[in-house]
Amino acid sequence: MADTGKRDRGSLRIDTDECKGCGLCVEACPPKVIHLSDELNHYGYPTATYVGAGCTGCGICFLACPEPGAITVLRLAHAGSSAAKAEMSEGVGR
Ligand code: SF4
Ligand code: SF4
Repeated sequence: MADTGKRDRGSLRIDTDECKGCGLCVEACPPKVIHLSDELNHYGYPTATYVGAGCTGCGICFLACPEPGAITVLRLAHAGSSAAKAEMSEGVGR
């Protein structure tokens, strides 16, 4: 994989037990870094999966998701070698 030297500005945490596999986050994500997994959760839904890189921390997936608690966006702020982290979780922007 090529190293672009760019650092991701965000990251995702997906609670697969809360995801209903609707795919709205997959459609909404501008850099297309969310996919639906082939594996099913205990409700039988394919779950959203972060590809592992490229998240900008924009929060659009969080706003698009109808399931409270399914997506948490972590915004990463890089200052020198120390990274500050802000979390966007359910209840924000609703
Ligand atoms: S925060 Fe933005 S870039 Fe990151 S996964 Fe969600 S929609 Fe995509
Ligand atoms: S929008 Fe929410 S419920 Fe729908 S696939 Fe994405 S994480 Fe799952």
